[in-house]
Amino acid sequence: MPAPIRLYNTLSRTIEPLETREPGKVGLYVCGMTVYDFCHIGHARAMLAFDFVVRHLVHRGYDVNFVRNHTDVDDKIIARAKERGTDPLALSAFFVNALEEDLAALGLVAPTRTPKVSEHIGDILDLIGKLVEKGHAYKADNGDVYFAVESYPAYGQLSGKKLDDQRAGERVAVEAAKRHPADFALWKAASGDPTEPGWDSPWGRGRPGWHIECSAMARHYLGDTFDIHGGGIDLVFPHHENEIAQSECGTGHGPYARYWMHNGHLTLDKEKMSKSLGNVVKIREILREVPGEALRLLFGETHYRSPLPYSTEGLVRALGALDRIYSAKETALEVAAKGAPTPIEQVGDPGKELYALAVAFPAHFDAAMDDDFNTAEAIAHLFDLVRAVNRFGNDKKARAKGALVMGPVVTAFSLAANVLGIAAMEPQAFFDEVKQKRLAAAGKSPDTVEALIAARAAARVAKDWAEADRLRAELDAEGIVVMDNPTGSTWRMRVE
Ligand SMILES: [Zn+2]
Repeated sequence: MPAPIRLYNTLSRTIEPLETREPGKVGLYVCGMTVYDFCHIGHARAMLAFDFVVRHLVHRGYDVNFVRNHTDVDDKIIARAKERGTDPLALSAFFVNALEEDLAALGLVAPTRTPKVSEHIGDILDLIGKLVEKGHAYKADNGDVYFAVESYPAYGQLSGKKLDDQRAGERVAVEAAKRHPADFALWKAASGDPTEPGWDSPWGRGRPGWHIECSAMARHYLGDTFDIHGGGIDLVFPHHENEIAQSECGTGHGPYARYWMHNGHLTLDKEKMSKSLGNVVKIREILREVPGEALRLLFGETHYRSPLPYSTEGLVRALGALDRIYSAKETALEVAAKGAPTPIEQVGDPGKELYALAVAFPAHFDAAMDDDFNTAEAIAHLFDLVRAVNRFGNDKKARAKGALVMGPVVTAFSLAANVLGIAAMEPQAFFDEVKQKRLAAAGKSPDTVEALIAARAAARVAKDWAEADRLRAELDAEGIVVMDNPTGSTWRMRVE
């Protein structure tokens, strides 16, 4: 049986044990992006929050049916396509590809399904038809079809908002067509502009409103009731409130989703945006500068429900922390492969401590993740382990005997890689990627660095220690750390 996972349910406003409809299976729907531009850092936070969730559910033995949609029919897409003189569906198809590239580069587990609105018009029309038939929706004088919020007494259950509060804000013409200001469009009548995407419907030509797509696609792939619905906290109202209303009224029963999970806001901390990284906020721009795991670590260190102030300063700090994790992983792999298999009782105190910590790690790590996906606590356990590896690594004698100590340490790193996607690379590949990206960001070529390293090696051969030291200092000032070993010198970019 899968382990007891507990999660915060926005609907009940409490932490609840996860009880899925079918034992061992989870149906999960996460609202995807409206594809009219490249994904930014706010999208990355939402996507990574649910990536940790999916990875942990899978690790805990669940078969996860994970659906995340692409909103490829929307007013913003139509407006952007018009600006660029291109076809809206071609524009959205281009950004769907870009999004998939970005998310793959972040190491996101691919959803089971990634449906698009344009491919599910039939499902949408079917659901709207049911709503009209049952008196929950009406065609207004302006040609739009609206959901009548007053027909659903439970409206407001997710957000806690009351209908009486929803009296202001809309444009007057739209307002006049509705029976209640909070009524929302299920179907928008075509404006007559031939460049807009449109489909025929029993209510005339037009296109779906935003909310109905998620209800229709979730129903298509996950059924009338499914386990977990996720998205950003900004979607609670009106998007998710409207999804519940139209799904439960359309299908005639509830709950639509048993658990509602929402990730907190990401805000830009403008004061802490470093000069070297500038104000880059698009995922692909950030990934040109740092490996994707730096973002995983930065976001994972804050619980998914908490607000997260993002800054490049924070990103660079996370990269430095990631560098320490990889150094420890490198030590662990090296000692595990080359150290002598000395019994644990004979490896000294740092070895014994490390061994005990590593053996206990999986239970601590899983307990943190079972507790509402507490990645921050799971990562804190990882750093406890990293510090113990370093203490042990400083003790050269013990290190030489430490192959048995490192067995559970290597297993612990694999667990973190599997569930958090952190320290998932070979250490050398990580150091190389940092080298290449940080050099490029600093506008330096590896050849210049290699030339300085070679000059320093020549000075050392010639026993010109002053020159060798001067060159080391020059490299150090450029952020390059030289490590001398019996077979020559290697280097890394210092992360700070
Ligand atoms: Zn949605």
